[in-house]
Amino acid sequence: MVGGSLAGVTAVDELRGQGWDGPITLVGDEPWAAYARPPLSKGVLKGTEDAGALVLPESGEAEVLTGTRATGLDLTARRVRVRNDDGSADDLPYDALVIATGARARTLGHPGERTLRTLDDALRLRAGVTRSRSLLVIGGGFLGMEIASVAAELGLSVTVVDVRTPLVTTLGPYLAGLFGRAAYERGVRTVVAPDGVTPAPYGAELADGTRLEADLVVTAVGCRPNTEWLEGSGLTLLGGVVVDERCRAGAPDIVAVGDVAAFPTGDGRFRRTPHWDSAIGQARAGVAALLNGDSAPPYTPRPYFWTEAFGLAVKLAGVLPAAGEPAVLKGSAEARSALLRWDDPHHPVAAALNHRIPVARLRALAAA
Ligand SMILES: Cc1cc2nc3c(=O)[nH]c(=O)nc-3n(C[C@H](O)[C@H](O)[C@H](O)COP(=O)(O)OP(=O)(O)OC[C@H]3O[C@@H](n4cnc5c(N)ncnc54)[C@H](O)[C@@H]3O)c2cc1C
Repeated sequence: MVGGSLAGVTAVDELRGQGWDGPITLVGDEPWAAYARPPLSKGVLKGTEDAGALVLPESGEAEVLTGTRATGLDLTARRVRVRNDDGSADDLPYDALVIATGARARTLGHPGERTLRTLDDALRLRAGVTRSRSLLVIGGGFLGMEIASVAAELGLSVTVVDVRTPLVTTLGPYLAGLFGRAAYERGVRTVVAPDGVTPAPYGAELADGTRLEADLVVTAVGCRPNTEWLEGSGLTLLGGVVVDERCRAGAPDIVAVGDVAAFPTGDGRFRRTPHWDSAIGQARAGVAALLNGDSAPPYTPRPYFWTEAFGLAVKLAGVLPAAGEPAVLKGSAEARSALLRWDDPHHPVAAALNHRIPVARLRALAAA
């Protein structure tokens, strides 16, 4: 397994759970054991959640190599080249390989740019928000809005700038509107700059010359797959490691799972789904494919995602963004507690907004 995070750890557990008793090596370049990332932009940034509580439980036994970076893959020799934390190099042989190197924060290329992807990033950003009075978030996706929400709660003056309305591409216009209003009520300023945003030492500059200034600036403009170590290996890399419906990467005994995997969308294209639930589902499906080949069930994406910001916690089942207006099945959006469904025949979506419902029921509702 290369990549010591959610998808890698899930693959180890699944392999052991399915009865594999041979040796497993889990190679990860971070200095610590696998941890959950979602709390980084929520409780950890707020200071209410301790880093120690993030550790992902590992029930499967494996030799774990932390601080070890994969630098190359030789498909013919079946070896992964690694660089250890002391600078030495090794070639690790494999019978089967799980690629789970995930993604890293996309940057805009500004020197000293601050992003949020790792525990280190979160602790640095936490230190930054505690000593700043103002924050500029470049990027109004779910991550940018979660950061903005925490900072506003901590009393900072917060601006979010994006080329589109925040959250509209992620969640769709209806939910983006709800989150936008909630952000406004909490004093967060939103700037939509369709002609582009350029980071600057003081914050950012818009195409018309407007300067956005803040003590602290963070970029949250999506993520890029960690595939550089696979360049020249012969695997197909198209915005991620291209896989088939069983997460197989087009070479014998290799699967790619989680944020790094570009999965077929059914219309000839491939798409990464960089969410928690997909990483788990793909890791399980990939391991089943390694053990059972074509008789393993294909991975059937049943997208599920959640985010929380500005007092709104939403759980979503279905392919996002959700188009148009939803039917309100329970509660009301004005009261900020509702069960919603978008009946688009191609992309049905169900959402629970500040509303408790088991994930399986939300999924069933989306599919109904
Ligand atoms: C701040 C934050 C908040 C999030 N919140 C949510 C949320 O609310 N809901 C949700 O559904 N999802 C959320 N996500 C997304 C979710 O955390 C990811 O989908 C999940 O972490 C993917 O797991 P992964 O194992 O595929 O990849 P990653 O978590 O990216 O792990 C990949 C690991 O591989 C390592 N690696 C990379 N290259 C190499 C190499 N060459 N050699 C060795 N190791 C390597 C990386 O350092 C990393 O440890 C959030 C993500 C972040 C960053």
